[in-house]
Amino acid sequence: MIEKDMKISRRQAITAVAGLGLVSCAKNDESETKKSLVSTAPKAGKVDKQSFGKTKDGQAVDLYTLTNSNGASVAIMNYGGVVVSLKVPDRSGALGDVVLGFDTFDPYLTPPPYFGALIGRYGNRIGHARFKLDGVEYKLPKNNGDNCLHGGLRGFDKVIWVAKEATNGGVPAIELNYLSKDGEEGFPGNLNATVTYSWTDAKELKIDYAATTDKDTVVNLTNHSYFNLAGEGSGDILAHEVMIDADRFTPVDKGLIPTGELKPVDGTPFDFRKPTAIGARINADDQQIKFGGGYDHNWVLNHAATTTPLPAARVTDPKTGRVMEVLTTQPGLQFYTGNFLDGKIQGKGGKTYVHRGAFCMETQHFPDSPNKPSFPTTVLKPGQKYQTSTIYRFS
Ligand code: BGC
Repeated sequence: MIEKDMKISRRQAITAVAGLGLVSCAKNDESETKKSLVSTAPKAGKVDKQSFGKTKDGQAVDLYTLTNSNGASVAIMNYGGVVVSLKVPDRSGALGDVVLGFDTFDPYLTPPPYFGALIGRYGNRIGHARFKLDGVEYKLPKNNGDNCLHGGLRGFDKVIWVAKEATNGGVPAIELNYLSKDGEEGFPGNLNATVTYSWTDAKELKIDYAATTDKDTVVNLTNHSYFNLAGEGSGDILAHEVMIDADRFTPVDKGLIPTGELKPVDGTPFDFRKPTAIGARINADDQQIKFGGGYDHNWVLNHAATTTPLPAARVTDPKTGRVMEVLTTQPGLQFYTGNFLDGKIQGKGGKTYVHRGAFCMETQHFPDSPNKPSFPTTVLKPGQKYQTSTIYRFS
C-alpha cells in the first residue's frame, strides 16, 4: 500500500515540521539564536510587497513575493489569497513557474476557474446547495448546476484578505485574515479565518488554515492552485506521474456529488498507489471517469485526519525532473486534472491554457460532508478551533 518513496517522505515530513518548530523556538531565545546565526545560519529569505492593482470598488490589491535563501519564490496576493506564481528549479537548476495564473491583476476579476485561490467557506460541492445543522436548513447559492461549489457566488477566492508579514526566524511568511459575516453566502456564524503561507529553504509551501466561529457552522478550507511541473502553459500534464496514498475514493453521481460509498481503488483507473502517468487511464471506459470528464474526485487518504502533515501524494514530471509532494493533516484529496480547461484562457505571457494543461491537489474534507453523516465531520462550534495544514514540497 505505501510505496518506499512515501516512507522516505514521512521521515522528511517530520524533519520539515521540526524545522519550522525550531525556527519558532529560536525566536523565544534570542541569545541562542544569535550564537547559531553567527556559525551556521544560512542567508535568510525575504518578503517583498508591491502594488498589483485595484478591485472594482477601489480596494488596493498587493502582491507579496516570498523568496527563500536559494532564490526560489512564491507570490501571493491579498485578493483571494491567490498563489500567483511559484518558481522552483528543474533538474538543471533552471527556475520555472509551475502554477497557472496571470501577469496582471485585472484578468483575475473575469474570474478564472479559481486559479491559485483560497477556497471557503466550503471547498468542493454541497449537494442541492443546502444542508441541515441543529435542525435548521441553510440554503446556499447554486453556482454549479443544482449544487453549491467552492463557497458560493462570492467565496473566499473573491474577497480581500487583511495581509501582514509573518516572517518567522528567516522563513518568509504572510498571514491573511478574513472575517466572513454571519449569513454570508448562506452560511451561519461569523467565521474568522486566518491562513498563513510560509516558504522554506527546502522549497516547502506550508499553508496553515485556522478558523473560529460564534455559531455552529460548517467549514472546509483549501487552496486551488493549478500545477504544471513542466512550467505553466507548456501543454498538458498527461505524462506527469502521480502517486496517491489512498486505498479508497468517494465515487460521485453525474453532478459530482459523492454517493456516500468509500470505494476501493483496486482494479480501477483510480488506483494511484504506484506511480502512474496521469494519461494512462484518463480516458478509460469507466463511468466515474466519464462523470468527471477525467479525474475530478476525492481520494480517502490512508492516514485519515492527523495533527502533523503526513504524505498524501507525489507527482513527478519526467521531462524536467521536478517533483511535488503533498503532505497534509486532512483526510481527503481532490485530484482534478483541469478537465474544464478548454484553451480559451490566455495566461502569463499570453500562453494558452489547454485542456488538461494543469492538475490540482486540493486537500480537504470530503465533498458534501454536511449532508453525509458517515463522512468525517466538517462542523465547527463556538469555542473550537478549526486547524489544518498542508505542505506542497518541491524538489
Ligand atoms: C472541481 C471541479 C471544478 C474546478 C474548478 C474543482 O475543485 O472539483 O469540478 O471544475 O474545481 O471550478
